[in-house]
Amino acid sequence: MTTTTTETPFTTEPQAAAGRIDLLGLSRERLAEVLAPVADRPFRARQIYQALYERGARDFAEMTDLPQALRQRLAERFRIGLPEIASRQPAADGTCKYLFRLADGATIEAVDIPDRGRRTFCISSQAGCALACTFCVTGYWGAGRDLTAGEIVGQVLAIRADRGLPMAGLNIVFMGMGEPLLNLENVKAALDVLTEWISPQRVTVSTVGILPGLEEMARWERRPNLAISLHAPDEERRGEIMPVNRTYPLAELMAALRRYPLEKGRKLTFEYILIRDFNDRSEDADRLARLLSGLRAKINLIPINPDPVLGRRMVPPDDARIEAFKERLRQRGWIATVRRRRGDDVSAACGQLRAFGREARGFRGKTDASSR
Ligand code: SAH
Repeated sequence: MTTTTTETPFTTEPQAAAGRIDLLGLSRERLAEVLAPVADRPFRARQIYQALYERGARDFAEMTDLPQALRQRLAERFRIGLPEIASRQPAADGTCKYLFRLADGATIEAVDIPDRGRRTFCISSQAGCALACTFCVTGYWGAGRDLTAGEIVGQVLAIRADRGLPMAGLNIVFMGMGEPLLNLENVKAALDVLTEWISPQRVTVSTVGILPGLEEMARWERRPNLAISLHAPDEERRGEIMPVNRTYPLAELMAALRRYPLEKGRKLTFEYILIRDFNDRSEDADRLARLLSGLRAKINLIPINPDPVLGRRMVPPDDARIEAFKERLRQRGWIATVRRRRGDDVSAACGQLRAFGREARGFRGKTDASSR
């Protein structure tokens, strides 16, 4: 699938893209504003909105309910910034992992995860990540740029179109590449568009806990669900695997979360990666339970997905240990679920697909040293 329109065959995609405004990522209201000078009738904005979000139109030529002259004017000034599918890797369990190429050549990934009638799209907020968590493949490859709101919304539209899915019943999690709270302006704009047709209760933003970002989200009128990447029950170990803990220490994060406004019936989600012999003992479960006491929360245990770039100690505990950890939390009154591994046969975890497209750099000495 390609998103380029054909009227500028002699310019490269990024240059062609630069001159034209991306219509994706604009709310209904903004769309009407930018279209007003070009459209011949007031209802055109609504038609175009429907074409973009309900029919998943890839270019203006497809909008056959518009007059030909208008389609041409639109194509001169605007573009529909759907990301190009660079590769698509379906796994045996139904999961399908996408590698997208953006207009400037940056690559990002997203995953379609069908699960017993539910459907979740896992999408990226940045093309890379600067936070360098030692267990994360995206972090290993390093920083990239912020995605635009259109590029965030575009991932959802592109997967939906590719899979031939309706909009209804979709869940969206920001658990792909990047830290959404370090690109909050664009994430907010994307959420504004996405929640025009998906309830904010079906959208989850996952974060390491960037405090200024959390403060801002606390002021939003319509908040998505919040998931916190915790991964260790104390400052020392969290700092060891998540350098960001030096900037926003666990104690401050927990205090901010206790202040965070939660709608009735909602819970915070805490993600806790289980790493063998690092954070998987029953004492760790006890500490975790204490750390969260008083919060309305659920715990998602994620046996780490190992990867050659992460170092040989970054491996999951065996099943008995995972079960024991979960049971210990249950005894302490916590609901914990173990995230089933999905898409294993296509390496669907966390930054692993894009890594295939890159040349291996070998091991970072640091990675191995920082695992225990
Ligand atoms: N930056 C955000 C969102 C992206 S990561 C965040 O950290 O929450 C989404 C989730 O995948 C996070 O919980 C992250 O810690 C987890 N993750 C990263 N690498 C992983 C790995 N190798 N195995 C399992 N989960 C991983």
